[in-house]
Amino acid sequence: MYTSPYIICEYCDSVYHRPQLSLHQKALCQRCGAVVARHNLLSIDQSLALSVAAGMLLLFICFYPVLMLKAQDQINSASLFDTVLALAEGPISLMALMSAFAIVFVPALQVVLMIWLLVHARGGVRAPAFRGCMRALAALRPWGMLEVFLLGCLVAVVKLKGPLDAAPTLGLFALGFLSLLMIGMAGRDVHLLWEKLP
Ligand SMILES: [Zn+2]
Repeated sequence: MYTSPYIICEYCDSVYHRPQLSLHQKALCQRCGAVVARHNLLSIDQSLALSVAAGMLLLFICFYPVLMLKAQDQINSASLFDTVLALAEGPISLMALMSAFAIVFVPALQVVLMIWLLVHARGGVRAPAFRGCMRALAALRPWGMLEVFLLGCLVAVVKLKGPLDAAPTLGLFALGFLSLLMIGMAGRDVHLLWEKLP
């Protein structure tokens, strides 16, 4: 199943024989204590299914309201896309650009790259431009800010009381699920493709 019987600690370069791990077990580096291997929960098919689900959720919250703002008898709602557009209209268009990058562009690119890699991995081959895609995924990880946006929305729901009232919508729950999916998947399960594909 794995192409090499060895694993290397990515922090201190120690080399180990690959351990047999069962559910919820992980192997730690003896020198620096970093996690060098974990039990792999998801198969490639399952990872692909979750990536497609993440893509659909992202599309959903781009156009479906994430928050509803109630002021007296007026109700306004905003999707991910609306927030970016609203910022772009004001004097802070640089903020709009950064928000669009961190909460729309980066997650969308991550999902597309994951689907591209996993569709090919299903057939047991490396996708064209495999190295570039894997490096791009690793480089993009710190730039995705969906969970920060989620936190902002939750704070707004809890804190905004009085003349202005923020209410959660179905979109907010979708955003929560999507954030969890992105945190769980863009990291270690995709990382294993380095070792599993010839
Ligand atoms: Zn180490």
